[in-house]
Amino acid sequence: MLPGVGPKSAQRIAFHLLAADPADVKRLAHALLEVKEKVRFCRVCGNVAAEEECRICRDTRRDTHVICVVEESKDVVAIEKTREFRGTYHVLGGAISPIDGIGPDDLRIRELMTRLADGRVTELILATDPNLEGEATATYLARLVKPMGIKVTRLASGLPVGGDLEYADEVTLGRAFEGRRLLDV
Ligand SMILES: [Zn+2]
Repeated sequence: MLPGVGPKSAQRIAFHLLAADPADVKRLAHALLEVKEKVRFCRVCGNVAAEEECRICRDTRRDTHVICVVEESKDVVAIEKTREFRGTYHVLGGAISPIDGIGPDDLRIRELMTRLADGRVTELILATDPNLEGEATATYLARLVKPMGIKVTRLASGLPVGGDLEYADEVTLGRAFEGRRLLDV
């Protein structure tokens, strides 16, 4: 049920909990419930947030003319670690994947278009994962956004192909950001 926890690990955790102090187990259960209750999604960008808007959207020092589009909140964390980006984000909540039945309407694309409608955004950086679904999503968005006269860029190659953005190391991801290129569609 939890990512990265296989049957063996689950068994180890179960035995650990059986032997643990009931008070400790209660504290853990409370902590889990608190995460579920308090964490929500930013109404602007879709990133995880403790309040109506996430920490990045509330930060007035961020450049709101540049939006970096990512698939998941964990990608925001990965990019923030590079300290290469001072703009804002838009979290799609996944990528287009016909096999999994995920189409554009299942992602936060309408919300993105609303953000772009006032013409203040000058560059859209497409930082979806360097795999089939991520590329398809980037192409789809580029075709949608380009006619609006917004510069559309894609992270430079050099990221592990077929991989997940979050697994790229900080240096590689930072370089990919610096070397981003205009996307031709
Ligand atoms: Zn936000």
